[in-house]
Amino acid sequence: MRVLITGAAGFVGSHLSDRYLAEGHQVVGMDNLITGNMDNIAHLFGNPNFKFIKHDVSNYIYVEGDLDAVLHFASPASPNDYLEHPIPTMKVGSLGTLNTLGLAKAKNARYLLASTSEVYGDPEVNPQPETYWGNVNPIGPRGVYDEAKRFSEALVLAYQRYHGVKARIVRIFNTYGPRMRLHDGRVVPNFIYQALTGQPLTVYMDGQQTRSFQYVSDLVDGVYKLLLSDELLPTNIGNPYEMTILEFAEAVVELTNSGSEIIFVQPEDDRIKDDPKVRRPDITKARAVLGWEPQVNLADGLAKTVDYFRDKV
Ligand code: NAD
Ligand code: UDP
Repeated sequence: MRVLITGAAGFVGSHLSDRYLAEGHQVVGMDNLITGNMDNIAHLFGNPNFKFIKHDVSNYIYVEGDLDAVLHFASPASPNDYLEHPIPTMKVGSLGTLNTLGLAKAKNARYLLASTSEVYGDPEVNPQPETYWGNVNPIGPRGVYDEAKRFSEALVLAYQRYHGVKARIVRIFNTYGPRMRLHDGRVVPNFIYQALTGQPLTVYMDGQQTRSFQYVSDLVDGVYKLLLSDELLPTNIGNPYEMTILEFAEAVVELTNSGSEIIFVQPEDDRIKDDPKVRRPDITKARAVLGWEPQVNLADGLAKTVDYFRDKV
C-alpha cells in the first residue's frame, strides 16, 4: 500500500509511520509541525519508501500519485496544546478532516480517523462502550478539541454513507511512550520528568480522577488491524487497566527509584476545567471484531518510556 499519514512528525504518527514501513508499505508523511518534531522521523529520511511533505492539512491537500489509504492523525492532542492553539485545533478537526476525506474519495483510498475518548467528555458511564453518546461541554475550554473530533466522526460517517468511502474511526484512549514531548503537559511526561529531576510530582486536585494508560505499540497494532477491517462504526482502542492519578504518580516514583515527593496542586487556569473524573475503555468490540487486545503492561511500557526520557532531561 501507499499510505498518507497526517501528523506523521508527532508522537503517534511517527510510530505509525515506522510500522507501515516495517510491513513493507510506502509512507507519505504530512505535518505542519505545530506540535510535532522532525526528530521523531529523522531516522526515516534516506528510506526510499518514505517521503515527507510539510503542509497544513487544514488547507487544500495535493498528493501526487496513487494512495491506498489516508490516516488522519494531525491534531494538537495534549490539553495544554489545544488550549494554546484552540482555533488550529478546530480547523484541523473540521477542514482538515474534510480535506483528507476528499483526498481519500478522489484517490479511492481507505480512510482512518484518529478520534478520541474525549468524545465521551466527562463520562457518566464507566467503562465507556462505543454506544455511549458522551457528556461533553461544548463551550468549555476542552470543547475545541472534543467538538472538533465529534464533528470529524459525523463527517466520516457522511462520507462513508453518501460517497462509499471505506472509512474507519478509532477512539483512542490515553496513550504514552517514547517520542512524547517532555513538556507537552500531559501527565505521563510531566510525572516522569519530575521524578527524574527530583522535583515534586504535581497531582492535580485530589488525584482521585482515573485514567487507563495504553502503550503506543498496542495502539499502533489496533490501528493497523482496524484500517483493514470491515468495521464501519467507531472502535475503542485502549488499555482497560484503570487507576487513579495518585496511584499513577506512586507507580512512576517507584519505577524510577525517585526521591521525589507527591504534592497536590490546584491549577488556577483552564487546564483542569471539565477534567474527566473517570476514563476506561470498554474494549469488548475490539476484542471481538479485530481479535485485538493490549499486550504491554504498565511496568514494561513505563520502563521503555522512562529510558527514552532519561536521555532528554
Ligand atoms: P502530537 O501532538 O504528538 O501529534 C500531532 C501531530 O499533528 C503533530 O506532529 C502536529 O504538528 C501535527 N499537526 C497538527 N495540526 C496539523 C495540521 N493542521 N496540519 C498538519 N499537521 C498538523 O499528538 P499525538 O499524541 O501523536 O496525537 C496524534 C493523534 O491521535 C491526534 O489526532 C490525537 O487527537 C489522537 N489521540 C491521541 C491520544 C494520545 O493519548 N496520544 C489520545 C486520543 C487521541
Ligand atoms: N494531571 C495531573 N498532574 C499533571 C498533569 C496532569 O494530575 O501534572 C492529571 C489531569 O488533571 C488529568 C490526568 O492527569 O486528570 C490526565 O491528564 P492528561 O493531560 O495526560 O490528559 P487527559 O487524559 O486529561 O486528556
